Amino acid sequence: MSPLYLDNNATTQILPEVLEAMMPFLTEHYANASSGYRFARPPRRAVDAAREQVAALLGADPSEIIFTSGGTEADNTALASAALARPGRRGIVHSNVEHPAVDSFSKHLTENYGCSRTIIPVLPDGTLDLDKLHAALDPAHTAVLSLMWANNETGVFFPIPEAARLAASRGVYLHTDAVQAIGKAPVSVRDSGIHFLALSAHKFHGPKGAGALYASSQVRLRPHITGGAQENGRRGGTENVPGIVGLGKAAELARLRLESVEPQRLRSLRDRFENRLISALDGVAVNGHLELRLPNTSNLVFPGVDAPALLMLLDDAGICASGGSACHTGSVHPSPVLTAMGFSTERALSSVRFSLSCLTTEAEMDRAADAVVKAVTRLRGLRDQSSPVIRASPTPR
Ligand code: PLP
Repeated sequence: MSPLYLDNNATTQILPEVLEAMMPFLTEHYANASSGYRFARPPRRAVDAAREQVAALLGADPSEIIFTSGGTEADNTALASAALARPGRRGIVHSNVEHPAVDSFSKHLTENYGCSRTIIPVLPDGTLDLDKLHAALDPAHTAVLSLMWANNETGVFFPIPEAARLAASRGVYLHTDAVQAIGKAPVSVRDSGIHFLALSAHKFHGPKGAGALYASSQVRLRPHITGGAQENGRRGGTENVPGIVGLGKAAELARLRLESVEPQRLRSLRDRFENRLISALDGVAVNGHLELRLPNTSNLVFPGVDAPALLMLLDDAGICASGGSACHTGSVHPSPVLTAMGFSTERALSSVRFSLSCLTTEAEMDRAADAVVKAVTRLRGLRDQSSPVIRASPTPR
């Protein structure tokens, strides 16, 4: 039985069209895209075409797209570039629910490069505390404001266009980690005042190890990976041509999906799934704002249920879901995102994230809902009989 994959915020399946576009660059067109001879023209042209495809998705100019190894590198590059650009300004401001690609790198800049950081909280529904944001941006000291477009665990959106206007009024660079939003919600940098944006192909049906940084033509990018003169001197290293081609194709397909009924289809599948669980099981609730979230993400609390045990029973039923972000799988620590929203450890450890994709069908969601109802009923029954609770043992890390 093939798995029922509901962990699409961790990664997605490569679409056949993406693989097909990549194949020639894994086989006959293997030349180095930076070589001068004719044999290198197909890969060079393919890289240029991919740059246009990514720019079209974002409403950017192709010259503003720099290919990277993924979202983490794009986030690191943007932060380092913005935080170290102006000697008098070394302040970094970001939320307390950012991905480690931002959070741990800002800590690194603070500990090793003379930066300071201010971390702004979210409200219990996962939205940004805008009063705290206003107070945190210091026109004399803040270099960069970094906010994710949508959260990886709850799907909750931050108001990026508004934040960009506020940042601009204080001379602060705005970087957005849009890794989870791309392909699932409209994202445009056109006339937005956004300086930097990170994206990653494997989150929207492209290959792993390929991503991009948007760096506005208004800013001077400080390269983070230095080496050869690739990417117009902005990122050293031989171009990952198959990965870049796959990213470009995935971006083109994402743009077409966003113009179609796909976002509404996902939202109604997700809402139907949630409504079925809420009516069948006591106490089930959505973690995060009900409306201001990605249409594919459902983060639910099942009171009285040990999430790792629930995930284990779902795994037995062939269903992949997650108890936090992928990097935390196997750990029994409560999700830092849910605790940042003010939830108790108990609530965080009873929460599961289901994330859908354009490949998810209604029949699959019905099967998943039936399996969740069965598993939660079983776990609650065991608890009520005071039998030993089924606990998943954490995998040593
Ligand atoms: N930012 C967010 C919000 C993510 O969810 C992820 C991946 O989980 C990343 C950054 C890192 O992206 P990558 O896996 O391409 O390095």
